Amino acid sequence: MQNDQAVNHMDISVIVPLFNEEESLPKLYEWIARVMKENKFSYEVIFVNDGSTDGSWHVIQELNRQDDKHIHGICFRRNYGKSAALYCGFKAAQGDVVITMDADLQDSPDEIPELYRMIREEGYDLVSGWKQKRYDNKLTKNLPSKLFNATARRVTGIRLHDMNCGLKVYRLEVVKNIEVFSEMHRYIPYLAKNAGFTKIGEKVVQHRKREFGVSKFGLNRFVNGYLDLLTLWFLNRFGKQPMHFFGLVGSLMFFIGFVAVIVVGSMKLYAIAHHVRAMLVGVNPYFHIAILMMILGCMLFLAGFLAEIVIRNSPSRNDYLIREEI
Ligand code: UDP
Ligand code: MG
Repeated sequence: MQNDQAVNHMDISVIVPLFNEEESLPKLYEWIARVMKENKFSYEVIFVNDGSTDGSWHVIQELNRQDDKHIHGICFRRNYGKSAALYCGFKAAQGDVVITMDADLQDSPDEIPELYRMIREEGYDLVSGWKQKRYDNKLTKNLPSKLFNATARRVTGIRLHDMNCGLKVYRLEVVKNIEVFSEMHRYIPYLAKNAGFTKIGEKVVQHRKREFGVSKFGLNRFVNGYLDLLTLWFLNRFGKQPMHFFGLVGSLMFFIGFVAVIVVGSMKLYAIAHHVRAMLVGVNPYFHIAILMMILGCMLFLAGFLAEIVIRNSPSRNDYLIREEI
């Protein structure tokens, strides 16, 4: 077994998600291969073709014919998105160190040796690239991205300048223990942190202009990104104990409503007992607000309770990552 592992040992897996990037691929692979050879790394490049409608898959097949020892291609039937591509790449990766890189030549393979060293020698779980000097459209990308990163830093507590940088490096254990799905590729460092991999670093990386093709993400990335951040924050905070949120808010609302109804009712009874003219309970606005609070309180409580029952049935309810055992 140990022998097997020694024979199959691999230093680096490079994962490249791609959607319609046929022109960039040959140059990208040639560049990665050159860097790997110069540094004597054993490696694989996993191209995940995310339903491209151009000739990208043919290019990958051709590259694989020339060098099937290093090239692994995965081809989706349709476009599922970058997160799906990364998920499948992570599942297939075998190297001790896993690097993700965009296919459009905006990330430089020259960064690989230093990123590798940071994981192996400095003990990082994850190192994210930081495109300090960006070559993208200022108004639609650079500025919103600054705002996005500032928000993400506050919510996640991870001090990264460029959370969504495509160029990242991981220890193998990290990618095998997080699950990227939906559009959560923007928050992989947060996923890693929530899974207990907290040594997260950052390295300033070179960024280049897109040579071929067009960007695949528009402005709606910021709306979706914001909603996803809310989801992740909420999941992390209350995902395992929804009653702590819904139960608390629901009970509080119900309690306030209940007390208000008692007060409104008592005032009416007091008025009747003392023969004072008073408003009909049915037209008293406080009465309606109180009833509304009671109903909403019940519904929130019920939502929390149902969520607890759902979690009780979740297969991952007792999944814990154990670092070591003696
Ligand atoms: N990508 C993908 N599936 C998609 C959209 C994009 O695999 O549905 C890939 C794309 O081919 C590229 C990377 O994700 O390799 C980053 O995309 P892009 O360069 O368009 O993003 P930007 O650099 O503009 O943020
Ligand atoms: Mg790009």
